[in-house]
Amino acid sequence: MRKNRSTKIKSYTNNDDIYASVDLSTSLPKSHFPDTERNPRNVFNAIRDELLLDGNSRQNLATFCQTWVDDEIRELMDISIDKNMIDKDEYPQTAEIEARCVRMLAELWNSPSPETTLGCSTIGSSEAAMLGGLALKWQWRKKRAAQGGATDKPNLICGPVQICWHKFARYFDVELREIPLEGERLIMSPEEVLKRVDENTIGVVPTLGVTFTCQYEPVKEVSDALDELQANTGLDIPIHVDAASGGFLAPFCAPELEWDFRLPRVKSVNTSGHKFGLAPLGAGWVVWREATDLPEELIFNVNYLGGNMPTFALNFSRPGGQIIAQYYNFLRLGREGYQKIHSACYATAQFLANEIDKMGPFEILFDGDSSKGIPALAWKLKDGANIGGYTLYDLADKLRTRGWQVPAYSMPANRNDLVIQRILVRHGVSYDLGCLMLDDMKRALDSFARHPVAHSLTEEEASGFNHG
Ligand SMILES: *Cc1c(COP(=O)(O)O)cnc(C)c1O
Repeated sequence: MRKNRSTKIKSYTNNDDIYASVDLSTSLPKSHFPDTERNPRNVFNAIRDELLLDGNSRQNLATFCQTWVDDEIRELMDISIDKNMIDKDEYPQTAEIEARCVRMLAELWNSPSPETTLGCSTIGSSEAAMLGGLALKWQWRKKRAAQGGATDKPNLICGPVQICWHKFARYFDVELREIPLEGERLIMSPEEVLKRVDENTIGVVPTLGVTFTCQYEPVKEVSDALDELQANTGLDIPIHVDAASGGFLAPFCAPELEWDFRLPRVKSVNTSGHKFGLAPLGAGWVVWREATDLPEELIFNVNYLGGNMPTFALNFSRPGGQIIAQYYNFLRLGREGYQKIHSACYATAQFLANEIDKMGPFEILFDGDSSKGIPALAWKLKDGANIGGYTLYDLADKLRTRGWQVPAYSMPANRNDLVIQRILVRHGVSYDLGCLMLDDMKRALDSFARHPVAHSLTEEEASGFNHG
């Protein structure tokens, strides 16, 4: 006998087919906390099916984050499911693996003392940026207090930054002096940095791989300008590099570019392990040039988990699997493997930039040059070239019907007038997959030409997009 669907206590037999089961013959709870147990197999399938409605991450050409991993990483993540990164006493080998990764990164970024310097894993670049920013703020405050100066108006100078720096500034009460864009200049310049520094500047944050255009900001030129400033005025302004993407690209594909601890003024660097570090989601890093660049007051000694362990973090409990997977990548790939994977991405980015340029209506703003930025491309519409009256928001919308996420967005001030579209080429976005996307892009342009857009999409109407 079939039970009434509204009966509270449902019964089923283990022989029911999943889709003929009582569980899946009703709408599952969405707000009401469930009263009863359910069959795990049915619940699993219901949730897996719902997840089909999410985008297909491999076709997401907006994200910088890793969407493809080795089978070995899946296995390591599985056996690490119980590893708590904070519990360094219970999981000393996980802690040791984290420390090895810090030393390897310090060496990769040319720290003068990679064996003894300090650094830690985080959940991503955002947490790493908060820690880097806090260290700058504490160092500045100590210096100012020693000079007898006021310590109530700290400021931080940056170019067009990722939202995490806006968060840092607001959460930790620092004035963000974000350099506005002008004309063709879509990143910071040394001259614009110098216009904004004063005795309350806690640091300058160049981005190695700006999220909007994917270009590298000129870290060395900014550092040189600050050297000159110090020689002339005595002001000694440190640099923290937001190398969320570039930290795992430049060392392999632009080794001659000086952006890291080779420049003495660079005191700390953050990166996202889960972007071009190729680790699964939830891995970030921050490393200081030398141990003395991290103020001791920010380190907490946690002793109630057993041993006495120093930590610097915003979180407490945190999964350890990503860090173990990161270590696997370092051993598995080495400099050679990272260089090969990322070079393949750069080649694909340049190919796509060339093909999109040939389509006619677009002007390429960044073409995936490995000495200038990350494996990506960005373009804008040429004036009046959009036959059928489409905007880049319409094109993004059209591509989405085929599953591709190719975001369009406007630039920050003073170039809010400029709307651009961008593709990130990361591990797993192959040449061939790129060709399939190009075919869909051509089909979209044909369609606009045949069916002009009656009401073109504006930024407000287009679906939201986050620069991550
Ligand atoms: C992605 C990104 C961030 C934020 O990193 P998460 O790892 O997502 O927290 C910060 N800065 C830049 C330049 C980025 O590209």
